[in-house]
Amino acid sequence: MASQSPSSGSAGSPTGVALVLSGPSGVGKTTVYRQFLERCPEIRFSVSCTTRAPRSGEVDGRDYHFLAREDFLRRVEAGEFLEHAEVHGNHYGTLRSEVENVVRAGQDVLLDIDVQGARLVRAAVAGTTLADALVFVFVGPPSLPVIEQRLRGRASDAEEVIQCRLRNAEAELRAWCEYDYLIINDTLDKAVADLMAVRAAARRATVRCGAPWTHE
Ligand code: 5GP
Repeated sequence: MASQSPSSGSAGSPTGVALVLSGPSGVGKTTVYRQFLERCPEIRFSVSCTTRAPRSGEVDGRDYHFLAREDFLRRVEAGEFLEHAEVHGNHYGTLRSEVENVVRAGQDVLLDIDVQGARLVRAAVAGTTLADALVFVFVGPPSLPVIEQRLRGRASDAEEVIQCRLRNAEAELRAWCEYDYLIINDTLDKAVADLMAVRAAARRATVRCGAPWTHE
């Protein structure tokens, strides 16, 4: 058996799980993780920065940190992001402060990032202790036409935005097999239950959890 040194090191110092959730626009990923976070209030949500305008009902600091482009680029320069990417013509980025110390303190955190962002995170943490905390989960639709129906059902986006998101969705769906787990959002309850099961299993992985005993 391969000798493996858990990042958690020893008893009583477990590492939290960082659930990296991706899936194309229109798949219902936001609804899935909101319900999941409601049922598991101890899990933190990594609030990303974005330069896109807030949608109605979105709250600054809760859904995103809505930033002016100059402010976003200044933070890139300052190395504040674990990853950042341009998605649908806007900048999005994950702040290191939302993830690193949280999982080191043993707390779980959920990141909602696109496929390229997930790739960048994987590359950024390779070879560091943070790598063991990451679990990659892809949320997919039960079929392709469902994506378009759901995007059109969201009245807030203009036609050109919908077309852009549809093209990106097709490309993103091809990446599902890069992830550790695939969740199909057919019925919401089942998708949320699957995500809870993934999280529970991830917490019990020996690479993350500390054993409750010590040896002389
Ligand atoms: P929306 O504008 O619909 O909220 O999000 C559009 C896309 O940006 C989604 O696929 C979402 O996962 C992604 N996204 C949100 N936050 C981040 C982030 O911090 N980094 C990256 N790379 N993508 C993000």
